[in-house]
Amino acid sequence: MGRATHPALEFEEATGTVTRYDFGTLETRSNQLGAVLDARGVRAGDRLAFYLVNQPAIVDLWLACVKRGVIVVPINVLYREREIAHIVQDAAPVAVITTHAQSALLPTGTPWWDVQTLAADMSAASPHRVTVPAHADTPMALVYTSGTTGTSKGAILTHGNFAANALALVQAWEITAADRYLAVLPLFHVHGLGNGLHVWLLSGCHMKLVERFEQERAPHWFTTYGPTLFFGVPTMYVRLLELPPDDAQRIGASMRLFVSGSAPLPAPVMDAFAQRFGHVILERYGMTETLMNVSNPYHGERRAGTVGFPMPMTSVRIVNDALEDVADGTSGELLVRGPNVCAGYWKRPDAEASAFVQGWFRTGDVGVRGPDGYITLEGRRSDLIISGGFNIYPREIEELLAELPGIREAAVVGVKDAVRGEVPVAYVVCDERVVLDEVVAQVRTQLASFKVPRGVVRVDALPRTALGKVQRHLLPPWTPA
Ligand code: ATP
Ligand code: MG
Repeated sequence: MGRATHPALEFEEATGTVTRYDFGTLETRSNQLGAVLDARGVRAGDRLAFYLVNQPAIVDLWLACVKRGVIVVPINVLYREREIAHIVQDAAPVAVITTHAQSALLPTGTPWWDVQTLAADMSAASPHRVTVPAHADTPMALVYTSGTTGTSKGAILTHGNFAANALALVQAWEITAADRYLAVLPLFHVHGLGNGLHVWLLSGCHMKLVERFEQERAPHWFTTYGPTLFFGVPTMYVRLLELPPDDAQRIGASMRLFVSGSAPLPAPVMDAFAQRFGHVILERYGMTETLMNVSNPYHGERRAGTVGFPMPMTSVRIVNDALEDVADGTSGELLVRGPNVCAGYWKRPDAEASAFVQGWFRTGDVGVRGPDGYITLEGRRSDLIISGGFNIYPREIEELLAELPGIREAAVVGVKDAVRGEVPVAYVVCDERVVLDEVVAQVRTQLASFKVPRGVVRVDALPRTALGKVQRHLLPPWTPA
């Protein structure tokens, strides 16, 4: 963290009100919150959850818990009763910190504390720093995976994990105290929390925090704040592309680095963004369980469609089903090892046993390493469609579909088939004028016949997680005509 009087943070509420903090104030506030939590009986090793939209209280909570050895459990603000119940039952937090209004959304009987009451109690609490000893393996947070593939698991992330990840990012992306980071990502997910919050704290740069990403507000944030650093997910970049060219130019002017991750960044989006904003987006790959694994280079070619090279301190292997290394150019599952890999899954020895093999973490993601070392992700192992003995990666078909005129988004899934085992079926969000049979005909001219979708279904929207990942298991069922 920077010097006490150094400006650290400005928070802009949805109403436009801006509040500013220096590092010294954040230090004092978190000491006070630590004392308040201690008075409420919260001890090292206890879990404490938060269910809040982005606000400085999350920063206070994080720092207070770092100092006190309390394990933070972030809960996605979009989650409702069923999803929250899973986390609360699993993690058994002492309490969920939330607002009065949001508390109504918690399952009945969930212990909760009002974030405003805690804030009021802080003013009378001791401002002195109290810490409990922590080491690299001390759990810092229990972060639940996004539930894209169905089951959300609690990844036990340690003090060492967050420290190693922040060090690697600050080094790889050359983040310094001179940077200005515009934080629009939710702090309940590792993208905003593990990357955003921690590169800010480690580099001592300045952060502008907003409640959530809003396309309409983005030009105002960028031009009034003049950020140098922005972390986003692909859907945000798609939205930014809809802004008028003048806005785009003004936004690009102050910037040093745009980073994308959490889901694949389509190459056409990256190209269009470079044209409009004058910046080549840097794509990287990470996950809740490992924080960041692989990143395109800061210097050197940021290659569209690829995620680049292993992060500093992280090792990556690409293996076949027998866990043997495959040759460059051959697809396989990515395994990772490094100080960024979580300690395990909370109360899930079954998931842990299958995810950790011979000291390596199985990501469940399939990818290929090119001759010059760039790694390309092809999709998740669980999304792989095996049709008549051929492997089909939905992403390849989805990318082609999204390039066809009138199709805005596409998702491809495998559907059981008596003859071929599985066949691909496509779901598309498209204009009225798109003729689905013609879509199939067009794909047939571009891809092998076994990859041609057996059916194409028109949907209004693809089901997505808060970070914009397609939840394939929530797509409507398909029945052959
Ligand atoms: P769950 O594990 O509960 O099904 P999830 O895997 O989506 O959910 P996260 O940990 O938030 O939960 O996401 C990590 C996953 O996101 C990675 O395993 C990978 O599939 C995907 N991902 C992250 N970055 C990229 C990227 N740049 N390109 C493609 N996929 C990415
Ligand atoms: Mg996952």
